[in-house]
Amino acid sequence: MAKLYFRYSAMNAGKSTAMLQVAHNYEEQGQTVRLFTAAIDNRYGVGQVTSRLGPHRQTEVFDADTNFLRIIDQKIACLLIDEAQFLGTVQVQQLHKLAQVRGIPVITYGLRTDFRGEPFPGSAYLLALADDIEELKNICTCGKKATMNIRVDQDGKRIKEGEQISIGGNESYRQACGRCFYSE
Ligand SMILES: [Zn+2]
Repeated sequence: MAKLYFRYSAMNAGKSTAMLQVAHNYEEQGQTVRLFTAAIDNRYGVGQVTSRLGPHRQTEVFDADTNFLRIIDQKIACLLIDEAQFLGTVQVQQLHKLAQVRGIPVITYGLRTDFRGEPFPGSAYLLALADDIEELKNICTCGKKATMNIRVDQDGKRIKEGEQISIGGNESYRQACGRCFYSE
């Protein structure tokens, strides 16, 4: 039975690398997969999934208007979605239907919470609806398991307020454990 999978982690845990590996495994068996990333995530150029370890590839992109039930119009072996925290709540429901009704496995990769510690709506729905949930682990600079994300400006100074999604800014993100997140 096909499932909707949610693989979540803090920043820099290798989500994109894991996704590219899964795509490779399917394709090595001659099977067709489709890969998507968020149109608003243009760190590495629009429509690219880039692993910090090197490999990267062109993908399709989704935005707020994407209807997955419409664009996944043929049976494929697997649908892979990076930056899944940017999915809309209705899109998560569409992905769940793709798995449960049409029998297409859907594997999503994303962050649970933003730099303020607030859940991304897409991730909250994924945590609620996904049939299989797994954490990809990463560590904080202090050595504890990282579960949170910190936004920093171009000088490395922490930013604690602002919009959940920042477009076109110079900020970057790093992972932290809960203790460092609240005490820094
Ligand atoms: Zn820490």
